[in-house]
Amino acid sequence: MEILKTVEQLRQWSRAQRCHSGEGIALVPTMGALHAGHASLIRAAAEARPGRAAVSIFVNPTQFGPNEDFAKYPRTFKADCALAERQGATAIFAPSVEEMYPAGAATFVDVEGLSDRLDGKSRPGHFRGVATVVAKLLNAAEPDLAFFGQKDAAQVAVLRRMVNDLRLGAKIVVCPIVREHDGLALSSRNTYLSSEERRQALVLSRAIRRVEELVAGGERDSESLINAAYAVFAEEPAVRVDYIELVDWSTLLPVMSATPGTLFAVAAWVGKTRLIDNAIIA
Ligand code: AMP
Repeated sequence: MEILKTVEQLRQWSRAQRCHSGEGIALVPTMGALHAGHASLIRAAAEARPGRAAVSIFVNPTQFGPNEDFAKYPRTFKADCALAERQGATAIFAPSVEEMYPAGAATFVDVEGLSDRLDGKSRPGHFRGVATVVAKLLNAAEPDLAFFGQKDAAQVAVLRRMVNDLRLGAKIVVCPIVREHDGLALSSRNTYLSSEERRQALVLSRAIRRVEELVAGGERDSESLINAAYAVFAEEPAVRVDYIELVDWSTLLPVMSATPGTLFAVAAWVGKTRLIDNAIIA
């Protein structure tokens, strides 16, 4: 497996792969601290583009707010490389901050409207940072397939719009949420949780499940579904809800009723850790 450090190395690697195979490459953008959720994306990428799947590992400073966890975000590079290789990745792109943001960098990608919704509302500037770094990655790697998790469903909406607007040419492939045996969605931030918080955090997936059950039973009304989720959160008063929303997955605007493809998304603070979870209405 090759470790690439510069944008130019990534560009050359991708060109060589495409030239030799006559086919495209797959890219899996991550911030590292890889877990089984990331592994599922890498496996899917390696199955789709055998021998031509690259994983980027970059803790992107521009998507963190001033009081967020950029400095303490877990960094486990050696273990990440081993995991990525086991799943079939053939290249890791691990640039420095200066490589991605040369001195004086003043160009950003703003997906207007979408960037201010859901997580973008509570984390101003977050999606601007995400869109900017993913645009740089797609521009350098020129993948025909880029893999993302449904776990970050609002991010998927922002990136789909960006890729379409900028005509970047990559197809976005969305992989299902990987969960712990008890329902907690895997996240690199779960390592911040104490054992008591780990227990409290289950309220997110319980609320998601409750809403899925209600929908399966025929409930469609947005207000009723959201209220039902709030009622589940009320069982765990130490957890502070950030948002509970039922939105159109492409515009991220609230909808009156759940229809197939609608996004039901929650975010909540468990102690000092902000967690998210969601379901796409079946
Ligand atoms: P991150 O390293 O947190 O930026 O995540 C990198 C990619 O992995 C994103 O596309 C995430 O949506 C995806 N991802 C994170 N957690 C999970 C999970 N539990 N299941 C599936 N994909 C995930």
